[in-house]
Amino acid sequence: MHGKCAASCRTPYYCASCARDGRKRGGRPRLKGNLRINLIATVVVISAAAPLAAQQTTVAAHPKPADTEVWGPEPRIVTPGASDAAPPSDAIVLFDGKNLDQWISARDSSAAKWIVANGIVTVNKPSGDIQTRRSFGNYQLHIEWRIPVGITGTSQDRGNSGVFLAITPVGGYELQIMDSYNNKTYVNGQAASIYKQYAPLVNAARKPGEWQTYDVVWTAPTFRSDGSLATPAYVTAFHNGVLVQNHVALKGVTKNTGYPEYKAHGPAPILLQAHGDKSAPISFRNIWVRVL
Ligand code: MG
Repeated sequence: MHGKCAASCRTPYYCASCARDGRKRGGRPRLKGNLRINLIATVVVISAAAPLAAQQTTVAAHPKPADTEVWGPEPRIVTPGASDAAPPSDAIVLFDGKNLDQWISARDSSAAKWIVANGIVTVNKPSGDIQTRRSFGNYQLHIEWRIPVGITGTSQDRGNSGVFLAITPVGGYELQIMDSYNNKTYVNGQAASIYKQYAPLVNAARKPGEWQTYDVVWTAPTFRSDGSLATPAYVTAFHNGVLVQNHVALKGVTKNTGYPEYKAHGPAPILLQAHGDKSAPISFRNIWVRVL
């Protein structure tokens, strides 16, 4: 559908100049005067470092703005939600306020037993963590959470939960959730931290009773065939629309005790934490992912 430009143009996509001048994709160009001069004057630079196939860069002697316009392939159309909280047309909805069909108990894979009411889901601490039925590689995640009014406790024992961006048999990668509005704790464990790896860039917490959002880009780690790490996991995250993690490279699964480490895994579920502290349970709503 979107062929290269005519051979004389040497542009690897169907460029604006060729479109304007009516040349066919991959066909012989109908050269006009100035264009012919331009093409004759092109210089082909062959990189000496190219190991096999020569990498060619064409530099026009008299470049025009259209030389660097790319007209295809066109990005596919995604219809955004009515609001930024609503799922775009290509999202997988993980919780829409109705049920937990997309979730199971992390403890025994039975149906998730957190409490759904009035369009939100509230943590049921005795029933433990819940995780998605599906597994994911790279994705964009939207999730909203609310610390209850009147929350009690201090430091980590105050509204603690968490989004484990991938949960594996040897642990997960936690984006911390807790009440960080006027609640001091170690900074690499406060809300929006990558637990015990990266403090958030800023504290964008809202007060208890107000809904908060995380928008996250998760790039899963990759592993070589021998199980060694090829590329680490990366996280970019916004808390209430504010950048809090900027493409940080994770050091491994997040741990409460000890240091992070990697162990090879593939696509993995997303997990929501039922933390064992005595404070009142938090709630979630509007959870969706876009597979990248
Ligand atoms: Mg937590």
